[in-house]
Amino acid sequence: MQNSFSDGNRPERSLQVKRVADPQTTWDVVVIGGGATGLGVALDAVVRGYRTLLVEQADFAKGTSSRSTKLVHGGVRYLAQGDVRLVREASIERGLLCRNAPHLVRNQTFIIPVYSWWDRLEYTLGLKVYDWISGKLTLGSSVFISRQQTIDSLPGIRTKGLLGGVQYHDGQFDDSRLAINLVQSLLERGGCAINYMKVSGLRKGSDRKVNGVILEDRESGLTYTVNAKAAINATGVFVDDILAMDNPAAPKSICVSQGVHLVFDKKFYPSEQALMIPKTSDGRVLFAVPWHNKVVVGTTDTPVDEARLEPQAQEKEIRFILETASGYFTQRPTRNDVLSVFAGLRPLAAPAKGKQKTKEISRSHKIMVSPSNLFTIIGGKWTTYRKMGQDMMERVEKHLHWSRTKSTTALMHIHGYAESPDWQDPLYFYGSDAKQLRQRIVDGDGQWISDSLQLHEVQVRWAVENEMARTVEDVLSRRTRALLLDARESVRICPQVAAIMADALGRDKAWITGQVDAYTNLANGYLLSEKEPAALV
Ligand SMILES: Cc1cc2nc3c(=O)[nH]c(=O)nc-3n(C[C@H](O)[C@H](O)[C@H](O)COP(=O)(O)OP(=O)(O)OC[C@H]3O[C@@H](n4cnc5c(N)ncnc54)[C@H](O)[C@@H]3O)c2cc1C
Repeated sequence: MQNSFSDGNRPERSLQVKRVADPQTTWDVVVIGGGATGLGVALDAVVRGYRTLLVEQADFAKGTSSRSTKLVHGGVRYLAQGDVRLVREASIERGLLCRNAPHLVRNQTFIIPVYSWWDRLEYTLGLKVYDWISGKLTLGSSVFISRQQTIDSLPGIRTKGLLGGVQYHDGQFDDSRLAINLVQSLLERGGCAINYMKVSGLRKGSDRKVNGVILEDRESGLTYTVNAKAAINATGVFVDDILAMDNPAAPKSICVSQGVHLVFDKKFYPSEQALMIPKTSDGRVLFAVPWHNKVVVGTTDTPVDEARLEPQAQEKEIRFILETASGYFTQRPTRNDVLSVFAGLRPLAAPAKGKQKTKEISRSHKIMVSPSNLFTIIGGKWTTYRKMGQDMMERVEKHLHWSRTKSTTALMHIHGYAESPDWQDPLYFYGSDAKQLRQRIVDGDGQWISDSLQLHEVQVRWAVENEMARTVEDVLSRRTRALLLDARESVRICPQVAAIMADALGRDKAWITGQVDAYTNLANGYLLSEKEPAALV
């Protein structure tokens, strides 16, 4: 399906806002949060025929959903923890996502280097089970490869004691691009989705059940009260804020842990195969994944005090990744070689009363229903976003005694669907939309903005016209991935991007100046200073 938006439901923010401004409308389902989880729920609701509204306080996928390791995976490490059910569920979802969004999800080969006979046995057998669990939806069989093949595939690898490697398959994707395509899929099916629209309160009837939400438009400052038959809290690490709107005395349900990634030029890791290190010096799993012609390395797991939309990497996390990556790169990277550093937050189950320790929330998701009928969903993974949506809507129908309907998202092509993309094409991630962008470039509509990032003016205009981009950050961080791929270069082109957007959105010079300042300030948080802060040297 390509560009099949009805006239009244184009991806244009003002059109979407008009729909919520109508006080006569009662929405069947209002979803709070425009990350992977909220989008999965909203899409499932709309394909079941429900009048569905999704609101996001910032931009779609501004939270954790644009900050993942970019894997569509069954989760080898959950298998090691014995969570077969979760791996089975995620492996099925991995297969479905490869089928439904082949323009964004690719089959990626991974190698685990092996230095002992025990590891060889453990990983070879473990990955055979991993292959078997995914059944017909497997992406390929795992094999043991020789020492020489391992060295050829991973040129920077430590060769002392190397026995060979275990090669296996998982999926790799572009997280925020998938989120944008899900928004478009939602609109195409008649749903409503609005970014920069925050839920600031819940409305309840005389029966104390939630029957609407209060929205604050973060662009205009206006507020709206909308009627809703079901309200769903899909706000990731912010779930407790919404739960507190429902019940100010509600106990904290989650704590937060941070995961950091560093991005490097491909020259440090000139391989098409991803690397999986199952046990780093401190027992963590670390990945090096080729992504948009760069390599992403991560992640860490560090408790932090509070949930923030723009989390900051800690020095010890940066140092840990730099050190560990050095052992597998062709040359030792310095802090200056880091093109970008980004952090994402995962929820952990809050400690039970009287206990000190947190424990990791199962990566399987959890659905809770408050006495007020507020539905909350936490945990899960990007890979399982579709199943989470399906499970939530089944729960809503059951709990509210609605007639049972059927989810059809398992076989639904996502906006942009295109088979066999040319991964070398700089516009590949637009899928079926790429043809239109290419034509505009050929027609001389603007010029290339960045050679190294292969970014064209047409992409900026497209993001405004078709992808609801409102700010320079939306374009450079989530419609394109410039901020994550090369933060310095993204700052260089930011004034040009702001000027093009101002033209497309009808904004003035003051807007351009404000955007350039805000973006530069933000991007500085993705750059490392040349020297380590004194306290750590
Ligand atoms: C470091 C890291 C790496 C990961 N890597 C992978 C991976 O490789 N593969 C994988 O499958 N999974 C991965 N995951 C997991 C995956 O990224 C998350 O499960 C998923 O992105 C969570 O999505 P979410 O929608 O629940 O949360 P979020 O993406 O955080 O979305 C919640 C949204 O709610 C919005 N919101 C909050 N309050 C309000 C309000 N009052 N009104 C309106 N909106 C509001 C926020 O702005 C936010 O955008 C990773 C997670 C982390 C932390």
